[in-house]
Amino acid sequence: QYVGIDAGGTLVKIVYSHEGHLQFEKMATDRIDEIIEWINRRFTNPEIHITGGKAGVFAEACPDRVWRVNEFEATCEGVSWLLEKETLSSGIGSGFLVTNVGTGTSIHYVYADSYERIGGSGMGGGTLLGLSYLLTGRSDFETILEMGQQGNGQALNITVGDIYSHETPPISGALTASNFGHTANMKEKEFSSEDYIAAVVRMIGETITTMSVQVADRLGTDTVVYIGSTFAGHDTLKEIIKGYTELRGKTPYFLPRGEYSGAVGALLHY
Ligand code: ATP
Ligand code: MG
Repeated sequence: QYVGIDAGGTLVKIVYSHEGHLQFEKMATDRIDEIIEWINRRFTNPEIHITGGKAGVFAEACPDRVWRVNEFEATCEGVSWLLEKETLSSGIGSGFLVTNVGTGTSIHYVYADSYERIGGSGMGGGTLLGLSYLLTGRSDFETILEMGQQGNGQALNITVGDIYSHETPPISGALTASNFGHTANMKEKEFSSEDYIAAVVRMIGETITTMSVQVADRLGTDTVVYIGSTFAGHDTLKEIIKGYTELRGKTPYFLPRGEYSGAVGALLHY
């Protein structure tokens, strides 16, 4: 039996076929021993196709047949494959951007059957967890997700409208001029832990969108496909990115099961 694994910096994604259907599993990378035990219990004599930054650690610890697959190729191939399943609803043609928000963020250009890594940023899902922990003492993804949804951190930021307070701004006044820039409000007003996390989510969402939109402009493409576990159940992050991408004239698409793209691509790779 074939098993596709994407061992990322934070989470290990596992994909395999069972009775004609793909099964999807996600586990914490720091529990590597438990994951290998799980694989050994679940499969007899599997052929493992593995990608991701922690693939080497796995390959060493795994007694089974292991094939290493290039992470960027696996990710883009997986996205194309998952997109094909969704073609009717997505309406995406050839030529689109893939923004993978994992521990860090990586941007790829997919055109027909070719893939190119365009760039990336240290602003990613790890930033969400780390900054939220520093600001609130909470480090669990689910807790952070719920707290962020309850907060409103807009007053922590300076908007373009705040700066152009006495005249019409040259660009939309609603745009953020400075994330976490409103020190005056911070001194005068009360903010909750929920507000802090909401502002962190917004900063990450806006930064990732800005980067993606600029790359899309440069490459002359309209569609940005967003993937990565950072979006898992994270409706506020998706809303921020959707709104901001559309504001900039591009079409965002949140690929269902997108965080499994690397594992799917690895599974398909021979
Ligand atoms: P990279 O590709 O950068 O090596 P990765 O592949 O491990 O990292 P993803 O799995 O795509 O990255 O996303 C990791 C992020 O997803 C975390 O930083 C966190 O924000 C979010 N996340 C979602 N669910 C969880 C979870 N159960 N535990 C920890 N983080 C989670
Ligand atoms: Mg990854």
